[in-house]
Amino acid sequence: MVSHVFHDYSSFENATTVAGVFQNFNKLPNLSLAEKIWGSIYYYIGNDLFATGCIFFFVHEVVYFGRSLPWFIIDRIPFFNKYKIQDTKLPSSQEQWECFKSVFIHHFVLEAFPIWFFHPLCQYIGISYEIPFPTYKTMALQLAVFFVLEDTWHYWFHRALHYGVFYKYIHKQHHRYAAPFGLAAEYAHPVEVFLLGLGTVGIPIVWCYFTRDLHLFTICVWITLRLFQAIDSHSGYEFPWSLHNFLPFWAGADHHDLHHHYFVGGYASSFRWWDYLLDTEAGPEAKAHREARMKLKAEAAQKKSI
Ligand SMILES: [Zn+2]
Ligand SMILES: [Zn+2]
Repeated sequence: MVSHVFHDYSSFENATTVAGVFQNFNKLPNLSLAEKIWGSIYYYIGNDLFATGCIFFFVHEVVYFGRSLPWFIIDRIPFFNKYKIQDTKLPSSQEQWECFKSVFIHHFVLEAFPIWFFHPLCQYIGISYEIPFPTYKTMALQLAVFFVLEDTWHYWFHRALHYGVFYKYIHKQHHRYAAPFGLAAEYAHPVEVFLLGLGTVGIPIVWCYFTRDLHLFTICVWITLRLFQAIDSHSGYEFPWSLHNFLPFWAGADHHDLHHHYFVGGYASSFRWWDYLLDTEAGPEAKAHREARMKLKAEAAQKKSI
């Protein structure tokens, strides 16, 4: 079976090895290195459905555990303790090992089945996987839209998960670690993984359903960035160079650590605006501000009534 990743293989020489396939793509003009690698993977595997499934599984595993590893190492280097937000609560090796096992098993069990439906779904919705890729500008714009929409999805569903029975039977698992660490980002009940994961995977699908303009590579970049965001926000570390010090509306670890510490408030994933606008910021400082505002309001109302 020949892959549909490229439209013209007339200049290709017969190749049976990965290196040989890459050489064929390397000779094509006007392709970036990423496009050549992408094309080679599809062509070499020779089954587009299988290739899409493999790419997605690989991206998720490599990025998730690859990004969690530096945080695991940092936890073991005393120099970094001064940057730890809850500095008395370093995760033990036992805790991290149990978390790793749970997340790893979930990845295999929960993804093994649906991942093979992703390629047919892409074809049905019109998500392209051919090379060349879209322009950087198109990709950046779509990524920005996904970030804003996912953050909104996450805010409302995460807030709902803190409600009575939902918390008790679903979200409590994720709150096992009051002082989170990178690997704990996806440590959650399968229902929560599905519900919040839908914000990450479902939003690009709905976007493409309406616009008919999305590339699978953009989804890979999106998932990578979203995993970085999720893992870093669970890292438990606040540095002078952390992103939110430069982008005040970026949530980061500072925001999510307070959520794990106090259980109430700080429901959004990437940005701070929903919690700010709806007065659900977490932590004693936010609580003090809230109480001061309520006091002022009550005093003003009392004055009016006199
Ligand atoms: Zn929560
Ligand atoms: Zn969390």
